[in-house]
Amino acid sequence: MINQEMLRLGTERCYIRELAEYGARQAEIVGAENVYDFSIGNPSVPAPQEAKEAFLHLIRDVDALAVHSYTAAPGMPDVRAAVAEDLNRRCVTKLRAENFFFTYGASAALTAVIRALAVDKAELMAIAPYFPEYRPFAESNGMKFVVVPADEESFQIPLAALEERITPHTQAVVINSPNNPSGVIYSREMLEELGRLLERKSGEIGHPIYIIADEPYRELVYDGAEVPFIPDIYPNTVVCYSYSKSLSLPGERIGYFCVPDQAQDSRELFDAAAGAARAMGHICAPSLQQRVVALCAGCRPDLVSYDRNRMALYDALTSYGYECIKPNGAFYMFVKAPEGDGRAFSDRAKEKNLLVAPGVDFGCPAYFRVSTCVDYDMIQRSLPVFRSLI
Ligand code: PLP
Repeated sequence: MINQEMLRLGTERCYIRELAEYGARQAEIVGAENVYDFSIGNPSVPAPQEAKEAFLHLIRDVDALAVHSYTAAPGMPDVRAAVAEDLNRRCVTKLRAENFFFTYGASAALTAVIRALAVDKAELMAIAPYFPEYRPFAESNGMKFVVVPADEESFQIPLAALEERITPHTQAVVINSPNNPSGVIYSREMLEELGRLLERKSGEIGHPIYIIADEPYRELVYDGAEVPFIPDIYPNTVVCYSYSKSLSLPGERIGYFCVPDQAQDSRELFDAAAGAARAMGHICAPSLQQRVVALCAGCRPDLVSYDRNRMALYDALTSYGYECIKPNGAFYMFVKAPEGDGRAFSDRAKEKNLLVAPGVDFGCPAYFRVSTCVDYDMIQRSLPVFRSLI
């Protein structure tokens, strides 16, 4: 007999990926220059030269047996130390190598941490708009997935709505800032208020409510905006990170979770997440990639073309009358559909070979997401289509 829940997850099609596949097929029929694919979040800036050189150096100059060997399950000690050192230059919380566990990207880090918290009747809270995979990560581990509806004025955190949804079973709130899909960065004041609220509610229900800070876009920030490091604000925070976006290495599958010492039951939580990773078949994160990210610990993404795309799309779409909060992080824009139905808009756009992701999967059915990690010339070619659709 087959596990039906896994069968459902394995056969359920991801609409956003389907759109991208549709785009590739259409390109063969109508020509690539006539397809405007804004569907997925694959970095459009190549990995930095430092990463390329690190790969070449490791393959060419370092003993092959050492480079490709198994590592300790949480990662190599010097890799963990290099990443801790880099973060310590940027945050107040003091991190040690032992706080880090390297994984196959942020997805594996999130799943491990979520599973570590999946006690009987546990609930995971997410704030709309949210990354769609949080739901299967929670539900496949038996957790109830609780959505806090979006504050559509600002896409900041709707604290009152969040407080209303806290129950004695709330184990964690997953926070994604800079946000996919809105591009919004949660302000320090907002996070401080959230921290105070969670501290009070943790006291009331008698156990910590953790923040799971999902931060693949931490370094993708524009106009000098600040991305507060959440453990500096709320001690019961676990960070999940990925190099998929910051180093443009999504297919290389490398990231980590970090449980700072100050988090309540920090060692038990770390070990339980390590156990969850083990239960899901984790042996170690890819050893070559671990070494690459250590060599690139101080490396930051080149934001020039993402910023140019962001401004070109934001200026054009808002001038046509679309409503959208100006994103100041990540590489997405979350736009209100003129007809108030993101799926209907996405379908209309698809007929003109313009591919945008409906907001329903992100918990905001009235919106659609435009990925701005695309070719600038494609943006220019797409603008008359955007204009014709409003
Ligand atoms: N979290 C968010 C908010 C994302 O946007 C993504 C990828 O798009 C992930 C997690 C997963 O990242 P990874 O490629 O590291 O698994």
